[in-house]
Amino acid sequence: MSVRVRYAPSPTGYLHIGNARTALFNYLFAKKYGGTFIIRIEDTDIERNVETGIENQLEMATWLGLDWDESIDKPGAYGPYRQLERLEIYQKFANQLLASGHAYKCYCTKEELDAEKEALLAKGDDRFHYSKKCLHAPEQDKPFAIRFNVPASKSYTFNDIVKGEVTFQSEDVGDWVMVKQNGIPTYNFACVVDDHLMEISHVLRGEDHITNTPRQMMVFEALDWTIPTYGHMTLIVNHDGKKLSKRDHDILQYIGQYQDKGYLPEALFNFIALLGFSPGEKELLTKEEMIEAFDATKLSNHPATFDTQKLDYFNAQYLKRLEMDALKTLTRPFVEKEGILKGRSEEWFESLLAVFQERMVCGEDIITLYHDFLEQPFTWDDEAKQVMSEPTVKSLIHTFAASFKALKPYDPTSLKALIQASGEATGSKGKMLFMPLRLATTGSMHGPELPKLLHLLGQDLIQQRLAQSIAWLNGAS
Ligand code: GLU
Repeated sequence: MSVRVRYAPSPTGYLHIGNARTALFNYLFAKKYGGTFIIRIEDTDIERNVETGIENQLEMATWLGLDWDESIDKPGAYGPYRQLERLEIYQKFANQLLASGHAYKCYCTKEELDAEKEALLAKGDDRFHYSKKCLHAPEQDKPFAIRFNVPASKSYTFNDIVKGEVTFQSEDVGDWVMVKQNGIPTYNFACVVDDHLMEISHVLRGEDHITNTPRQMMVFEALDWTIPTYGHMTLIVNHDGKKLSKRDHDILQYIGQYQDKGYLPEALFNFIALLGFSPGEKELLTKEEMIEAFDATKLSNHPATFDTQKLDYFNAQYLKRLEMDALKTLTRPFVEKEGILKGRSEEWFESLLAVFQERMVCGEDIITLYHDFLEQPFTWDDEAKQVMSEPTVKSLIHTFAASFKALKPYDPTSLKALIQASGEATGSKGKMLFMPLRLATTGSMHGPELPKLLHLLGQDLIQQRLAQSIAWLNGAS
């Protein structure tokens, strides 16, 4: 049997972490087992659809590094891939189920249904199973919904890839609405028709859908269709072990928010792939390595904690490995918006990034790092003063400062040459070359590569600091 899996987003919102995980695992599953990955748009909940929901889902999935074989933008042989364009198909099967007695028309009005619910609640029954009042109702010229006629006393058992054997009893499911009064199918019905017609072999989705599975199995059985293999992935929980909710403000919930902050899609892909799957000791894996390591039988049955610190660690690791061009592309929007590049060369931008690359967690960090750095006071502590009092320092700083003012072009290459030349001219080497120069220009003993740092701070500021240092040295001797 060929593997065909699907990610079936409802465009009722933007791509959320939970859905991104579902999409990603379906993608991994297809890639690992040589299957086909489909994205089907489940847009039948018309009132809840948001305008750019579909666009965002596909755009963010692409940004994350996913690609698919069939969808609205890649029509295959099983389309259309958007449920609102498949209404006639659902109608046909709904009629078939009406004819076979597996479904019936329900003429109850909203008021009647509300009254039924109230009566049930008064009896302490909050399951709200429909009374089956319309099961044998004669044909009427009134608006109707179509309900599934749930069989009495039947067990529904399936072997879940993640959870093992799962059983539901039909008593726990009321006669549910398959097609609403407006002729639009509900999720549980449309999903089955599509999973069948699109020849979906495996359904991997979030645990929140597990109670839908018996409903869906009923339809498969009633239509005499083969039931796919199910896998319900465990919940993603926050630091308190609670289900990730859109109200958790300390966790960014939407993939687009990570893009906006300058996270790297590769890092996010890697991190999300570990929410419910462990490839082994090595966790930092490329997409290809993750596909290789993926094993559906190893999907975890324990809730996956969304550890923001771990995500930041991952992103920092990926950022460190980034080539300069990619780092520039990632950070340029932030520095441009902040106006930091105004009047500055590309080379200056590169110095900025080279100096801070190691300390960034995500792209936008460059802004705070830069400002914090500029605001650092230029002072020496006692240890620094001791270094600056060493006998060779005075002539070194004088020599360096003498050529500094006229240094042209002012860039890391010329600065490096000047440092070397000043060292040679005064016989200062290694630590006794770099440390006093660093102190005389930045106030710190240690820090990022000196030529780049000096380039970054600019010729005027360094000139000023050298003058201050020289004044101190003259006063000290
Ligand atoms: N449209 C459903 C959702 O967004 C899909 C559930 C499924 O994969 O069956 O949750």
